[in-house]
Amino acid sequence: MSPSATLSRRGEERARTGHPWIYRSDVDDVSAVSGDLVRVTGARGRVVGHAMFSDRSEITLRMVALGPDPPGASFVRERIEAALRFRESLAIDATAYRLVHGEADRLPSLIVDRYGDYLVLQALSQGIDRRVPEIVAALVDLLHPKGILARNDPRVRQLEGLEQTVEALYGDVPERLEIREGAVRYEVDPWHGQKTGLFLDQRENREAALRYARGRLLDAFSYNGGFALALAPKCTSVLAVDISEDAVARIRANAAANALPHVEARAMNVFDELRELERTGARFETIVLDPPAFAKNKASVPKALSGYKEINLRALKLLEPGGFLVTCSCSYNVTESMFLDIVADAAADARVEVSLVEKRAQGRDHPILINVPETYYLKCLILRKLA
Ligand code: SAH
Repeated sequence: MSPSATLSRRGEERARTGHPWIYRSDVDDVSAVSGDLVRVTGARGRVVGHAMFSDRSEITLRMVALGPDPPGASFVRERIEAALRFRESLAIDATAYRLVHGEADRLPSLIVDRYGDYLVLQALSQGIDRRVPEIVAALVDLLHPKGILARNDPRVRQLEGLEQTVEALYGDVPERLEIREGAVRYEVDPWHGQKTGLFLDQRENREAALRYARGRLLDAFSYNGGFALALAPKCTSVLAVDISEDAVARIRANAAANALPHVEARAMNVFDELRELERTGARFETIVLDPPAFAKNKASVPKALSGYKEINLRALKLLEPGGFLVTCSCSYNVTESMFLDIVADAAADARVEVSLVEKRAQGRDHPILINVPETYYLKCLILRKLA
């Protein structure tokens, strides 16, 4: 018997909306083992499509094809090829970017990032984990990388009953890689850096912010200095703030390597630093707020909103009239309209007039699926303080 699963009526409805995740509670019956490609049928026997099965996750099925026909034997390689072709068409002005973005490239729970001649992948479900050898072979064949690193340390692997490991799957992967993003050169540590090494999803927002940046810049939640270094050439002074000493050391090293001596980096809690800057009467023409996801789940949304409100309120006060605030949220539980509302509240409380210059999302190499709200996680507003 080939592997199969039967959905409840509700599960069938959900699959029909185009959402690729089917939860355990919507699956009536399964005959499959971990990572199998299963034929998925509805309550009345109609074939809904084919999916990868997980015997541990709450997300039991991840659809990979809709309709009666199973995906072809080489669907993984074909989808990787299609993902690569799309990235090539984007004419990205950087040597680091996302090649495969999971569901949005029809390869649920697979991430592949490029850092120059090296690739970093994450296999975040049983189905994709089982296909890693095939994925590595396809990547080697299509891209001829010097090395491929598996950054399989995210906690979601636990939910799948998979080991958390970081290992080279192909070639040698050094702890220091040089990449370029626009005019900025970075040293990246793919073994230990956050995510796969850099926050690649902000690349186009850094480019966009460059169009407005000027005067004194405050880059809050700076990590390796992503916004600070990109905007520094247009600014007279740059203050980058991050709570992590390691991150701050890297900002300093990156600033020196890029001959940007006017970048100052401080290891501080942004909440405290904003208060301190306000107390000392500091002012800025450009401010970037790029905090970590404050709302990791639905329950933490109210607390997250008050966090977003506080930093935006303080930033708007520190901003000179005519200045720009680039404010971001990467919590997918905080929707675009919730984020806009909270920033509007902050402006009202700060008694400032603000216009919305640009409404942005993650870069195009991290595509959003219109039927999968979870894939629209990064919101980036570029605001101008009028008075
Ligand atoms: N702007 C960066 C990415 C920021 S990621 C870029 O463009 O690459 C979020 C960063 O916020 C992390 O580096 C983390 O160390 C830092 N962080 C988290 N909480 C913080 C806090 N309370 N104060 C300062 N930094 C914080």
